[in-house]
Formats: sequence, C-alpha cells, structure tokens
Amino acid sequence: MLELNQPSYTYEELAEKNKAYLWNPFTQMKDYLEEDPVIIAGGSGRQLIDVEGNEYWDGVSSVWLNVHGHRVPELDQAIRDQLENIAHSTLLGMANVPAILLAEQLIHIMPPGLSKVFYSDSGATAVEIAIKMAFQYWKNKGLPEKRHFITMKEAYHGDTIGAVSVGAIDQFHLIYSGLLFPSIKVSYPYVYRSPYGADPQEAAAGHLAELEQVLATRSHEVAALIVEPVQGAGGIITMPDGYLKAIRDLCNRYNVLMITDEVATGFGRTGKMFACEHEQVSPDILTAGKGLTGGYLPVAITVTTDEIYDAFYGDYAEQKTFFHGHSYTGNQLGCAVALANLELFRKNNLVSQVAKKSSYIKERLARFHELRHVGDIRQKGFMIGLELVVSKETKQPYDWTERIGARVCRRTRELGMLLRPLGNVVVFMPPLASTYEELDEMLAILYQGIAEVTEA
Ligand SMILES: *Cc1c(COP(=O)(O)O)cnc(C)c1O
Repeated sequence: MLELNQPSYTYEELAEKNKAYLWNPFTQMKDYLEEDPVIIAGGSGRQLIDVEGNEYWDGVSSVWLNVHGHRVPELDQAIRDQLENIAHSTLLGMANVPAILLAEQLIHIMPPGLSKVFYSDSGATAVEIAIKMAFQYWKNKGLPEKRHFITMKEAYHGDTIGAVSVGAIDQFHLIYSGLLFPSIKVSYPYVYRSPYGADPQEAAAGHLAELEQVLATRSHEVAALIVEPVQGAGGIITMPDGYLKAIRDLCNRYNVLMITDEVATGFGRTGKMFACEHEQVSPDILTAGKGLTGGYLPVAITVTTDEIYDAFYGDYAEQKTFFHGHSYTGNQLGCAVALANLELFRKNNLVSQVAKKSSYIKERLARFHELRHVGDIRQKGFMIGLELVVSKETKQPYDWTERIGARVCRRTRELGMLLRPLGNVVVFMPPLASTYEELDEMLAILYQGIAEVTEA
C-alpha cells in the first residue's frame, strides 16, 4: 500500500466536510451525499487509492486526462525542477522559458500548417478562444457578416457560455438556451442510429449531404464549423472513415474555417498524436487540452495557422489585436510538466504503443457482443463506448430514469475500477500507458459489471 503524506482524517470526517463546504461539478448533490462518495487520497501508476485504502483502476483516466499514470517520476520531477525557478509569471506582453519551448515542440507535432500556439487553462477556454479567433478573423478580413458557427448535434465543447453555445447535448445545455448565441446544428454521422441507414458509407453520404445543404445556403454568413473527430461527451461516437476529410473539403469549397476540437482526442488518445492525422486533415484551428500535461495540471491550447495569425498582425492603430487572455495563461509549472509529458511520449514510443494496444483491446471487445444488452461497441484507439440497450433487435434505449450506465459503473467500482458513464453509454478510457496485463484486468471488470447489472 502507498505511504500517503497528508493529514489523517477519517472517511466520515472528510465526507462530512465535503457535504458542508464543497459543491461538486456535474453532480446532483442530493444523490451524491446520500451515497458513499469515493474520496481519493493518492494514486500510483494506473491506480487510484481512496482514504480508506481501497485501490481502483482509473478506468476513465480521471475523466479522459491521464496519460502515463499517476505519480510518474519524470513528471513529478519536472514540476519540482520548475519550482526551483518559479511557479508562475504572466504571459501578457512578456514570456517565460517553458511556455516558449513548449510552443515550439507543439508546433513540431501538429498537423501541417498549424504554426502558432495560444495558451489557456481548460478545454472550454481553448474553445472560447477558437470561437473569438474565427469571428474576429473575418472581421479583420473585412467580412464581418461571416459570424455564425456550424456545430453538430450532441456536440460537447465545454461549459463556458461560448462553448455551450456551440454545444448540443440537450440534457446539459437546454436550460441555458436563454443565455447562448444561436448556432447552426447539423447531424453527426452516428451510424448506429442514423436515419440514412446502417451502412457506414451510406450513412456518411446522407449526413454529408445535409451539411452541404447548410453550407450551400448559409456559408456567406458562417465563420467556422466546429467538430470533434470522435464525439466524446455525446456518447463516444466515432465517424465513418473519410468523414473528417470530407468535412475539410466542404469547408474549403465554401470558404468556412474548420475548427477541430481535439480536447479529448488529442495527445495519442486515438492511436495518432492527433485524431486529424488518421485522415491527413489540417484544420484552421485546433483545440487541445486534457492529455497535454499528462493529466497533471490545467493547460490547454488553441493552435492556428499563419493565415489566421497574420490577419491579427498589424499596427496597433489598425485595431486588429486579439484581446484575450487569462491570469494563468502560459503557467510555467503546467508548461514544464507538458514538456516532460511530450518527452515521455517520445521515449516510450507511446503513440505507436497505443495504436498496437488498441488492436488488442478491439479483439478483447469482440466478446462483449455476447452480452444481451450491449447494442453498439464504438472504439477509436483508447476511446471506447459501449451503448447499452433494452433490446438489440429494436435498439430500444433504456429509459434515462433507469440510470443503467450509472448502475454498471457503481458495480465496477465495487469490483475495483472507477468509471463514469454518459447516459446509457459505458465509457472505458484507460490511461494510455496501461500495460496489456492491466488492460486485461480492467476489461474483465468491465465485462463482469455490465453482465451482472444488465443480465441480473
Ligand atoms: C472535455 C472537453 C472539453 C472541455 O474541456 P475542459 O477542460 O473540461 O473545459 C471540450 N471539448 C471536448 C471535445 C472535450 O472532451
């Protein structure tokens, strides 16, 4: 067991203080406080340990962030080393060493054409920046009427107002509609439930025609299209092959900027450094976050091209400046650990390891088709979603009040793995450095949890 270096409160004392003082995100506190929440005290490798000493697999990478595991010596050391110099100074009108060096390294691994890094501190802020950048780009180019955004149904881009405005998950977003700017929503090629048929290429053609119809009528007033190469919070929805490339071609043809939100898919998660690389797509703006610091500290990036950067570049009096920044933009501790993270990617050949292990996971997932209530199995690399249904024949979804996903995850917790579902979709997103043996153990718990809860 881990030696933990912190004051020793009992579980009950901490739960009481949680109840008294802390409001948890995306959490109905009434449910939460009636249950027995996990309170984490530490972690090691791919495991988390709670204050009572129970160990769990971190089966969703601490909600999609973690790369190499917890308490990774190289990452811990990078933060200690940076602390010997300084923790933070501003990036507004000045700079710091790790922020500059990290920007250089990021550009070297980006899809071709992306050449400038703008830092922020979360995926949502990276998306806000992308939206403001695209909007102002067209203003600076003398086309202010291009100010609308196309997004996809079930899209998730973060929880700030701009990001929610281009979001489209009713359960999370509808209540705020009075606060949002309107966006144009087209369907995502969700093949399992596509109105255009069950064949991926036929479905893709139908969804693409829908998008083209919108572009043909409205592109003159559209600044950008924003898309997740794999929809994350919408339910781990993968695209048919060729779809992202087809979107890129349409954006070119209709003179609309393409923003790819790689906050979830970036940094190796899908078996390429960035998911765009599966189709040799270079967006005009790319957002990333989550895995950038290996799951250690909040740093995010909005990366763009010279074409866009140059549209903001000019004499101050031209009023083309990008007026955006955050207190902690370019934070040194975060950039230092991101540099160490990228170093470990190289040293461990991590991206090709993920690609190899993804095929292994795919083989292991085949067995899940035997389960009577697993309707669809979706996977892109280490992003896996299993959609549970009442009936495989009719694809009838479980009623949301059954909370089937949450019940499965509750059972896997008892079996030793922490997961977080998305409605009826059980999400499995293990840390990228998980070994074959660790993946086997996690997949066994996943199978047992689903089988026991859905076939009881
Ligand atoms: C998680 C996520 C975000 C938001 O990132 P935060 O760091 O939670 O603000 C944005 N876009 C996508 C695709 C995400 O998965």
